[in-house]
Amino acid sequence: MDSSLRILWVGGDWDEFALRAGGERAVANQVLSRELTAHITDNLTAEKVRAMVKTVIDVQRPLRLEYRCDSPDEVRRFRLTIQPMKDQRALMVHDLRDALRLETPMVKWSFDPSVREVKCSMCSKIHLPSGWSDPSDLSFPHPALVRYGLCQNCVSRVDLAIGATIAGDTDEDIPAVVPKSGIMLE
Ligand SMILES: [Zn+2]
Repeated sequence: MDSSLRILWVGGDWDEFALRAGGERAVANQVLSRELTAHITDNLTAEKVRAMVKTVIDVQRPLRLEYRCDSPDEVRRFRLTIQPMKDQRALMVHDLRDALRLETPMVKWSFDPSVREVKCSMCSKIHLPSGWSDPSDLSFPHPALVRYGLCQNCVSRVDLAIGATIAGDTDEDIPAVVPKSGIMLE
């Protein structure tokens, strides 16, 4: 993406993953040339994503963040790496770290901006009166309708990741990413 978060390229199994997850509106030709934040419904999440990309472009160092992106029958842990690229651009790499298949799936959920139930867009927890809870342990039914937000823990994790990038503390090896196949705009 460029510094205004306009998506210039997607690669890997983007379309396959989108279609498998019921994301017909997220396939490559629907997202290319649009701003990434146009696909993020929660303002705070969008603001944090913007801040992460801006930091990477400003300081020209990578940023890393673990996040969860579950489906009803699978708990999936990803690692996001945002890497600086030339010309004030950045590359987001989403590595699947592990996927745990649930024997009993969670309730299938849909997005509805008008409901009270909030799901954290970065750790998949649900906000209950008792606090943020992980629905994958099936201790409570996953709400059928959710809107997205960010839990306090994830806000702190993002801020820590930004701080580490500014401080140059992302000392793990960053894999060399060579875009091979993909769809490029322009
Ligand atoms: Zn969270």
